[in-house]
Amino acid sequence: MNQPTPRFWQLFFELFESLPRQGPGNRECAARALGLCQELPQSPMILDLGCGVGGQTLQLAELIPTGSIVAIDSHAPNIQRLQAAIAERGLAQRVSAIVGDMSRPGQSPGSFDLVWSEGALYNIGLRNALRVGRDLLRPGGYLAFTEPVWRKENPPPEVKESFDLDYPTMGRLDDVLAAIRDRRLQLVGHFTLPDEAWWDDFYTPMEVRVAELRRKYARDAEAAAILDQLAEEPAMHRRFSAFYAYEFFVTRRPLADTG
Ligand code: SAM
Repeated sequence: MNQPTPRFWQLFFELFESLPRQGPGNRECAARALGLCQELPQSPMILDLGCGVGGQTLQLAELIPTGSIVAIDSHAPNIQRLQAAIAERGLAQRVSAIVGDMSRPGQSPGSFDLVWSEGALYNIGLRNALRVGRDLLRPGGYLAFTEPVWRKENPPPEVKESFDLDYPTMGRLDDVLAAIRDRRLQLVGHFTLPDEAWWDDFYTPMEVRVAELRRKYARDAEAAAILDQLAEEPAMHRRFSAFYAYEFFVTRRPLADTG
């Protein structure tokens, strides 16, 4: 596979920035994961790493009506879109969105009750991200995150190649559980994202948007080829979702871990 061209990235961002979310997930799964964080304080301090345009940030703000949320993403247009949504919903008092690198988020160690991250930790390496997340938590704080995992051995070559481009070291459920243990986090629970969490806010709007972009770039053969390539992701999920999943993990920094 060739290196993505500047034109690819232009269309990639034009597509992804306009979606309600940039990865699988939904409000029900966020609520279920939050339900596992049974000892959260009433007004928790929350950090959302790799927030994208903030689909889950805004859901968290609804699900936890008091407390504060800091949302970080390295892609400035995502943050601008989230800042506009925060202002529109009158949430600026307790939700802030900043451009930053989650491997150096510039937040005080040990200061958060909940670190949240959907579909983003792998960007800085899962084990590294678990260390970063744990260090940001106060003892007893929760780290809740989603992570793609292989469900079956020997995925079809096109599936393996597609994940190899973005996440060549993607593991199985047991690999993530081992990483959680190695980082001295307690596993509170985990569950697999259902199919609707892939489609309702992610692949269905993606396919609608690809169709709009096809009309916009109807006379542009290069754009058409790139849009064909981008349309492969939901099409692949339709055929091969038995081979991979997104898993929600809820973990906790031990109360006794004060070091
Ligand atoms: N959490 C969002 C969601 O579920 O809709 C976005 C998920 S998207 C698959 C991954 C996000 O991680 C992208 O918005 C990307 O810009 C962001 N990202 C990648 N590397 C990052 C880094 N080092 N620091 C902060 N954000 C990063």
